[in-house]
Amino acid sequence: MKRKLWIITAVVAVILIAFGSYTVYSKRNNRPRTVVATRQKVYLIGIDGASWNLMRKPMAEGKLPNFQRLMQNGSYGPLKSFIPTKSPILWTSIATGKKYKKHGIGNYVAEKDGKMIPVSGNQRITKAFWNIVSDYGLTVGVVNWWVTWPPEEVNGYMVSDRYRNGHPEKLDQPVTYPASLIKELPPVGTSMERYMEDRRKYGLPEELHPDAESKNIEMMVNSYKQYWSQDRAVRESCRRLIASRNVDVFGVVFRIVDVSSHLLWTYLDLKMLDELRAKDAAGKLTQQDIDRIDEAYSKIVGGVYQYADDILGDFISKSDANTNFIICSDHGFKFEDGRYGHASMKTPPDGIVILAGPAFRKNYKIDGATQLDITPTLLYLEGIPVGRDMDGTILLHAFDPSFIKLHHPTVVDSHDHGKRQQGQALSSGQDQEILEDLKSLGYIQ
Ligand SMILES: [Zn+2]
Repeated sequence: MKRKLWIITAVVAVILIAFGSYTVYSKRNNRPRTVVATRQKVYLIGIDGASWNLMRKPMAEGKLPNFQRLMQNGSYGPLKSFIPTKSPILWTSIATGKKYKKHGIGNYVAEKDGKMIPVSGNQRITKAFWNIVSDYGLTVGVVNWWVTWPPEEVNGYMVSDRYRNGHPEKLDQPVTYPASLIKELPPVGTSMERYMEDRRKYGLPEELHPDAESKNIEMMVNSYKQYWSQDRAVRESCRRLIASRNVDVFGVVFRIVDVSSHLLWTYLDLKMLDELRAKDAAGKLTQQDIDRIDEAYSKIVGGVYQYADDILGDFISKSDANTNFIICSDHGFKFEDGRYGHASMKTPPDGIVILAGPAFRKNYKIDGATQLDITPTLLYLEGIPVGRDMDGTILLHAFDPSFIKLHHPTVVDSHDHGKRQQGQALSSGQDQEILEDLKSLGYIQ
């Protein structure tokens, strides 16, 4: 009898696997959810501030082979950004598929007891992809995503963005989920030799000569070594985690392209800067002028993109036949009002998106993608329904028709079962340091 039951169970299992559908039980709320098993793995790699206009030249020179490889193996194009063009808001939109009024993260800082303190993750009022993926019983790993402290309980692990500030002992809540994970990660901080080695390797200016006009630049220059050491620690954490823990969806954000792009334009030839500033003031700036200064700037900042390219190489070397890449940025950079930036511009500069791997069309240019489409696209890749309350849609035109044929897109009204309560911003011993960091980038006064 027992044997018969076993045979029936096995037959049912085979049928379910053959039809690619099975039921999983969420660990967190025991609600059974059915997903159509796509068995696709995802590496979602965020590169804060990455911008096509500054990548064109190093790419043409063959200096970004991993970006190029992914583009040839996927769909790519501009990724529309939004106002306010601020990283915590935008990365939360990317992670939720919702505009900031629906996700609740509206700035770098929040007010608590009449004081400005850094915004914290408990202020988000809707689920992010890591919650939804967990609800459906799939596994997820998240590293250094903006506004993820305190870390959330997920079906996998989370290294919150406060890890990069070092000194987790200054926080009265863990910096990772599970809390013990921090023991496996490298400490943040790097020696001057190591930093100079990176600077030479990627051809970054050795002598920092800040532009006297920018009051923030001196602070920023002093922080630059710190930014390199943060991204270095995040990169090493990713290497360790993707080697030790296999998850269905892995997401990370790197920040060095953004902070470098804020700083390094002050190395542009002053004559050129003055000439274009004068033209701009007279309303005579042409597309040709913009192309010329973009090219000049990409010679300076190109090394940072090479560094990002090396990071992609880490992930490519760990990918297999079922791995899909989603590479994106929250905004780009453009020359406007005599400087390079992304905030307070007439229109926010587009970011980048590359969708590569077995599920996607190859070497295919897409248009019209917005950062609100990233989470719906990721959920579809995993066979999870998209929420009707999301502002973005699945980037179906980026997918290979054979994938669409096999996997019908599904929807639910919402993944939020009752609204998440917005918590008060949480103070910590890192607040001062984080506020200084934001000041040095000119994000707050
Ligand atoms: Zn940003």
